[in-house]
Amino acid sequence: MTRFVFITGGVVSSLGKGLSSAALGALLQARGYSVRLRKLDPYINVDPGTMNPYEHGEVYVTDDGAETDLDLGHYERYTGVPSRQSDNVTTGRIYQNVIAKERRGDYLGGTVQVIPHITDAIKAFAIDQTDGTDFVLVEIGGTIGDIESLPFVEAIRQLGNDLGRDRVVYIHLTLVPYIAASGELKTKPTQHSVKELRSIGIQPDILLCRSEQPISESSRRKMALFCNVRPEAVIPALDVETIYEVPLSYHREGLDNQVLTHFGLDTAEPDLTRWEEIVLRVKKPEGRVKIAVVGKYIELQDAYKSLAESLVHGGIANNVGVDVDWVESELFEDGDEAIQRLEGVNGILIPGGFGERGSEGKIAAAQFAREHHVPYFGICFGMQMAVVEAARNLAGIADASSSEFGPCDHAVVGLMTEWTRGNRMETRSSEDDLGGTMRLGAYPCVLKQGSLVGDIYASQEISERHRHRYEVNVNYREQLEAAGLIFSGMSPDGELPEIVENPAHPWFIGVQFHPELKSRPFEPHPLFSSFIEAAVKQSRLV
Ligand code: GLN
Repeated sequence: MTRFVFITGGVVSSLGKGLSSAALGALLQARGYSVRLRKLDPYINVDPGTMNPYEHGEVYVTDDGAETDLDLGHYERYTGVPSRQSDNVTTGRIYQNVIAKERRGDYLGGTVQVIPHITDAIKAFAIDQTDGTDFVLVEIGGTIGDIESLPFVEAIRQLGNDLGRDRVVYIHLTLVPYIAASGELKTKPTQHSVKELRSIGIQPDILLCRSEQPISESSRRKMALFCNVRPEAVIPALDVETIYEVPLSYHREGLDNQVLTHFGLDTAEPDLTRWEEIVLRVKKPEGRVKIAVVGKYIELQDAYKSLAESLVHGGIANNVGVDVDWVESELFEDGDEAIQRLEGVNGILIPGGFGERGSEGKIAAAQFAREHHVPYFGICFGMQMAVVEAARNLAGIADASSSEFGPCDHAVVGLMTEWTRGNRMETRSSEDDLGGTMRLGAYPCVLKQGSLVGDIYASQEISERHRHRYEVNVNYREQLEAAGLIFSGMSPDGELPEIVENPAHPWFIGVQFHPELKSRPFEPHPLFSSFIEAAVKQSRLV
């Protein structure tokens, strides 16, 4: 029997609903249950793919090519269960489907309405493909009280009746703010949020209370009384030092116990040793390395969420802490002085990115890494810029560039208009819609034997996730290889360069895909482990 855990948020946004859901998923998994996590997003965009990273943070890409909310990254990192397109839906997509059905005539004769048509579509999504899974955790984006999340809340309310209360539990995540002036924790916002939730028909079973300070027994009892919840089901969720401590902290406070009690399940205590080990490694590393991440959206680190976590994982694999210096790439366009900021770092990473702004700064950073023998890791745009740099400065193609920045004579990086996926041909033109039309999702890549990446992966064929429109132009392969850049990973048909490396350098790798989407604390991605290992070696030299 599949049971559903619905997680709503109250009081304010950014309380970490995604992490809380992921942590509960990990705890249920540690008790031997199979889990799947999903997210319902209330905005009208069909997916987050066309949103600015400042709006939305990272776009997380699944194997099956969906552009999804970054919370799905937390779900994967905490549970190891690969997400799918069917694990994230937005109001926009729900309406798109309902309207397409209306046009087809599926509702012929009827008036199409929010209830039941939109709510039915939401319910169908929530329970789709969940057979055989013990627990499905569904996070509802937004904050209770928002107009736009109402149909989602109504849908999960209805599911409580449709499935039966023995298969559904409602968890409400709230904030219990600390007022320093009076030295008090305030429960009123929680009371109001629950009142709002009850007014739309949902009585939460469990309250998860984010707080900076320990919550006293009396505050706990007060919230229980005013919110109509058992005192044991009011769970304090205090701030912790590392996000990998969240499952341990929730378990100590009884969250997973309360969920199982709700369902009348009596399961043995979970074994959380592996979480304890990870936390210990993160908190007490044996050394530290400094990595410069040269990007464009650095004020908002949510834009590089998976990347930041993958660097932590690389640190875990090498027992070192990773200090990240987030550098705005445009800085390096002001001449030689700024680039000195890179002198003390043990590794330089250029992450994915879009558009011309800041690209010359990234090219300058790649050149610095190459010339100074600093480990260099270029991801997607970071690979493309490293190739432009090599074309200009090693192969002597002075006006080499990417056609992403406009027409140019030597587009060593160009728009890909045709490629194969399995035995299917995909085609694109520069006139196409921008939404959902990149090369997206998992693609195989064949590694060159004897190359650095061949050693790192210890495998001949790998699969990694993509999200880009432009590709390194294979027609320049010969010229670039003659100049010293090796194409060490290619698509199986040999048409698309997937990895380049520089054998004259201690560690210089550019990859067209996004390895950060597949790194997990318990299985650090081999490229990140190896990059941090190279940074550790480099740190011994300086
Ligand atoms: N802007 C580049 C492209 O579309 C790189 C994209 C990325 O880094 N994800 O190909």
